[in-house]
Amino acid sequence: MRGRWWSLLLTAVIVFLLAYVGLTYLDRGNEPTISYTEFSRQVDAGNVDKIYSKGDAIQGELKDARDNPEGDGDYTKFKTQRPAFADDDLWQKLNSRDVTVTAQPVVKERGLLSNLLISLAPIVIIVAVWIFVARRFGAGKGGAGGMFGRKAPPKPVELRPGTQRTTFADVAGIDEVKGELDDVVDFLEHPDAYRRMGAKMPRGVLLAGSPGTGKTLLARAVAGEAGVPFFSASASEFIEMIVGVGASRVRELFAEARKVAPSIIFIDEIDTIGRVRSGGASVSGHDEREQTLNQILTEMDGFSGSEGVIVIAATNRADILDPALTRPGRFDRVVNVSPPDRGGREAILKIHTRDIPLAEDVDLTQLARTTPGMTGADLANLANEGALLAVKRGQEQVTASDLSEALEKVQLGAERTLVMPEEDRRRTAYHESGHALLGMLQPGADPVRKITIVPRGRALGVTMSTPEVERYAHSEEYLRGRIIGALGGMAAEQVVYGVVTTGAENDLEQVTNIARGMVARWGMSERVGRLSALPSDAQQAYGLAAAPQTLDVIDAEMRRIVDECYEEACSKLRDHHRQLEALAEALLENETLEEADAYRIAGITRLTKEADA
Ligand code: ADP
Ligand code: MG
Ligand code: ZN
Repeated sequence: MRGRWWSLLLTAVIVFLLAYVGLTYLDRGNEPTISYTEFSRQVDAGNVDKIYSKGDAIQGELKDARDNPEGDGDYTKFKTQRPAFADDDLWQKLNSRDVTVTAQPVVKERGLLSNLLISLAPIVIIVAVWIFVARRFGAGKGGAGGMFGRKAPPKPVELRPGTQRTTFADVAGIDEVKGELDDVVDFLEHPDAYRRMGAKMPRGVLLAGSPGTGKTLLARAVAGEAGVPFFSASASEFIEMIVGVGASRVRELFAEARKVAPSIIFIDEIDTIGRVRSGGASVSGHDEREQTLNQILTEMDGFSGSEGVIVIAATNRADILDPALTRPGRFDRVVNVSPPDRGGREAILKIHTRDIPLAEDVDLTQLARTTPGMTGADLANLANEGALLAVKRGQEQVTASDLSEALEKVQLGAERTLVMPEEDRRRTAYHESGHALLGMLQPGADPVRKITIVPRGRALGVTMSTPEVERYAHSEEYLRGRIIGALGGMAAEQVVYGVVTTGAENDLEQVTNIARGMVARWGMSERVGRLSALPSDAQQAYGLAAAPQTLDVIDAEMRRIVDECYEEACSKLRDHHRQLEALAEALLENETLEEADAYRIAGITRLTKEADA
């Protein structure tokens, strides 16, 4: 890319210089302009043959060449300018020296041809540069697209022996997904067996899942596993300023893949071009995206199914994809990649601690248990943070305490050195105690794992509760519990101080999201009914989703739920005022309370025992 622009620039400069030199040569003519003094001298010396005059401008020719006093070399033809104040009776002088005064210009003016050339020159230069660039970067079949920024034809990711390739051994915790892709690999290895059965493979597999769940990794592993040519592209690479480039790149990509079939094409982050076509997109980007997407769809439709080109795409946002993408015959196999469960987390931790020397006391099973909801990428990060800490501390091995500190950092954000006034610390202690106490009191709520008033990230304090085992569906009671817990901080400030502070901003966002979901998406409000009244995508405009009356009802219902929960939070905290005090005091003293201490100080016995997931 760089080199190309350099050579383009260089060519432009060279062309410009050539043109400049040429033009100045044409323009200059050969006749020097001499001073009027020199002219008078030549007239006096009788060396002037003839002159031509127009106004005060004089041009003429000498009889014998003379050395040019102002320039270099000799001259015979010349131009000069007669000053208005010259009182030298020139006519008289010319007559007496036998100088012919002609009616024809002596010096040849620039002809019509050169004038034409000069005026055409800029156009010629532009066209020349254009042709040069076009030749250079292979125009023609690419249309306007090929003219600019054309890349070399796509090459498959090399199957280089010797280098460490990603394989399925590097992927853990998503076995069901691996299973689906095994089919693909198998098909690519024995296409004939499938063909005999008349079975058609899916043309496209869409990997959908939240960021960091290992989709890109998985695709790389498929490449390593399959042993077939593997073409990898990120959808954003297709988007360029010039409309049409993306589509032509897609065409090329598929053409190359077909040449070496069976093969795999992987398109990462396909949501960048596969979004639902809606208004409000950028003016130029919009067309380009649509064309690129259409080209991909066309290419996929063009497969006969036995060609053996399989397209794998990955996206973080399957919900916003254009439905045209997931139609049968296209990405008809959608594989959801979800965050790993406990066993999966343990396996992933094992993979990412393969090269890390672990101390005796490290228990990956336990670590996996305390990390629900974390993705493969989070876990990889966790292992790495632990190793970094161990290096910083000059240890030989990574210990359990390194890992637990790393976990805190990953989950809660880095500690912030912030000197808080005593009053704020006390208020934060009550705030966090409020969250924690309500979390502990609520039957069925996620257990409180840690409370801290050490500022981390943007928060002044953190109360962390994570579920015992992963849950995939939530009851209304549980959600209300979450709202009550989230309002606990604010309620505690209200109960203890009678005023609230700005520290509850995040809490309220969380509360709003849960309440909105309950009312408008999960059918938990009688008045709204069992409707999906609001889009799941908060970015989308609300107004379009439901009638204004419905929106009013949603609003009222959200308020009702949150108000009820807030009442409950306040009254519970009033009832358990002593426990709140105790927790806050303990926090002020210790800054951080672990799960066991927190429950002991609050005098609450955990209802559920540590369950094995
Ligand atoms: P995605 O593409 O889904 O956003 P990536 O594939 O880029 O996620 O994952 C980022 C990193 O996280 C990987 O390079 C890998 O180190 C780690 N990772 C994610 N999922 C897994 C997994 N299931 N097994 C092992 N490592 C994983
Ligand atoms: Mg990715
Ligand atoms: Zn809070």
